[in-house]
Amino acid sequence: MDKELLAMLVCPLCNGKLKYDREAEELRCHYDGLAYPVQEGIPVMLPEEARVMNADEKLPPSPGRTGDA
Ligand SMILES: [Zn+2]
Repeated sequence: MDKELLAMLVCPLCNGKLKYDREAEELRCHYDGLAYPVQEGIPVMLPEEARVMNADEKLPPSPGRTGDA
């Protein structure tokens, strides 16, 4: 996806910055806990189309955790 386009995009609900997940092809707003789909390179910035993220996805990446439980 176009980096300049990505930089222009904000969450329609909170006007916050979105984080693009390349593998999932989603634009995520961690504030609202919503993931907006990107369909064929076109971001769908509609809250009603967005997926509600689960609790694990909402967590910010923690630098101290390496996966050993
Ligand atoms: Zn938001």
